[in-house]
Amino acid sequence: MTGLNPEKQPLLALVDRETPLDPAGYDRKGGWRGLRRALGMSPAEIITEVTESKLRGRGGAGFSTGMKWSFVPKESSKERLKYIVANGDEMEPGTFKDRMLVEGNPLQLIEGMIISAYAIQARHGIIFLRGEYHLGLERLQQAVIQAREAGFLGENILGSGFDFDLHVHPSAGRYICGEETALITALEGRRANPRAKPPFPQIGGLWGAPTVVNNIETFSNIPHILANGTEWYLGLSACADGGTKLYGVSGRAKRPGVFELPLGTSLGVILNECAGGMQDGYKLRAFLPGGASTAFLGAEHADIIMDYPTPEKAGSRLGTGLAILLDDKTSPIGMIRNLEHFFAQESCGWCTPCRDGLPWVERLLIAIEEGRGTQEDIDRLHDAARLIGPMGRTFCAHAPGAIAPLASGLKMFAEDFQRMVSKPASGTAESGAAGQA
Ligand code: NAD
Repeated sequence: MTGLNPEKQPLLALVDRETPLDPAGYDRKGGWRGLRRALGMSPAEIITEVTESKLRGRGGAGFSTGMKWSFVPKESSKERLKYIVANGDEMEPGTFKDRMLVEGNPLQLIEGMIISAYAIQARHGIIFLRGEYHLGLERLQQAVIQAREAGFLGENILGSGFDFDLHVHPSAGRYICGEETALITALEGRRANPRAKPPFPQIGGLWGAPTVVNNIETFSNIPHILANGTEWYLGLSACADGGTKLYGVSGRAKRPGVFELPLGTSLGVILNECAGGMQDGYKLRAFLPGGASTAFLGAEHADIIMDYPTPEKAGSRLGTGLAILLDDKTSPIGMIRNLEHFFAQESCGWCTPCRDGLPWVERLLIAIEEGRGTQEDIDRLHDAARLIGPMGRTFCAHAPGAIAPLASGLKMFAEDFQRMVSKPASGTAESGAAGQA
C-alpha cells in the first residue's frame, strides 16, 4: 500500500494486495529484523518484552499477549511438544482486517509466528484460515513454501538451532470455529464444539499439548515490537495499551474500509477522517464498535476512544475494532433481526440457551418487524437477553456475544420497538411470535 508510514503504520506499510513481497523483497524493506534479533534473545526475554509492550489480543477479547505466553510450561521445544496457532477464522460480520494482512503481507504473519513459537518453544505452527479466503489461502501457502526455501522455516532456522514449521489449514466454514477451543477441536478432526475452560489452551490445547492461539493481527504486531522495541511500540498508541489497531467501518460510509491508526482512536476520526463521513443523505444513528457481537453505542458517543475495556470502564467492548454503522434510514429492528439470524444459524447446538434461545429470539424479532408482534414479545426479548446474555451459562462466548446487540438495542431503540407493537393488538399471544413456538 502506498502513502503509509512504516514508522506509524507498521502493519499495513508493506501490505500489497496485488503482489505481496517474497522473502528477499521483504528482507530489503526491513522484514525479518525482528526475527533476527529475537533468535539472539532467550525465550523469557522475548516474553518480557512482549508483555511490556502492552500488546493485547486483536481478535476481540484483548487479553495480554505476553501474559498468555507466560502461562505456557517452560520446557524447551525438544523436551515437550507444544503448538502455536494463528486464528484467521475471521467470520465476525463486518470484520475484514485479517484478510488484508494475509492477502497483502503473509510473511509478516509468518515472521510473527516464528518469533512467538521460539518464545514459547513450539516446534509446530498452524494457520487456521477462514474457508472463504481463497486468495489468502493461496498466498499463505505460497509464502510458507518460499519462507521454507529461504531458510526461515524448517530445521535450524538462520543457524539458531531452533526448528519450527508451519501448516495452513482452511476452515470447513462455521463461525464457531473461530472460538479458540472449538478451533482446536476442529483441528483434531472432530465436530467443532467449544470446550469448557479451564484448562486454557496454554496448558491443555491441541491434542492435550500446550497451545497458544493468537489472532492474525496480534501475531503481525510481533515482528515490529522485536525490531523496534517496546518504547517505540508504546509510543504508537493513543491510550495506555501499546501499538496501532486496524480499525474500520462498514455501512453507509462514503469509503468503507480498513485503516491503521493509533490504538485509542475514536469512531468519529475513523469515520470522518478516514472513511469520508456518511454518504450524502444519511446520518449516523448508532454503531456497533467492533463487529456484530458488541453492544450498540449511540451517535453521540462517536467521540469516545475505541480502546479495550478495563474493570473501571463500563460500556461496549472494542471487539474487532471494525464498526458497523446504523444510519437514520435503516430499521434497527431489521438490523438486529439480521444479526440474530446469523447467530442463530451459526450456533453449534451444544448448549440449550444458545441452540434454542437464539432461534426463538429471531422468531420474536421477525414477528415484531412484520407488525405481528405484541408487547409480550418485547417482554420476552428482554427475558431472553437477561437469561442468555450473561457469561457462564454456555460453554463459550457465542450466546453472550449474540445477545450484546439485542440487549443494547432493546434499550436504545425502545421507541422503534414500541411503535411496531402499538397498533391495535388482537390481545392474544397467538398474534405474536409466541404462537409460532
Ligand atoms: P476470552 O476472554 O474467553 O479469551 C480471550 C483469550 O484470553 C483466549 O485466548 C483465552 O485463552 C485467554 N484467557 C482468558 N482468560 C484467561 C485466563 N484466566 N488464563 C489464561 N488465558 C486466558 O474471549 P474469547 O471467547 O476467546 O473471545 C471473545 C472475543 O472474540 C469477543 O470479544 C469478540 O469480539 C471476538 N470475536 C472475534 C471474531 C473474529 O472474527 N475476529 C469472531 C467472533 C468473536
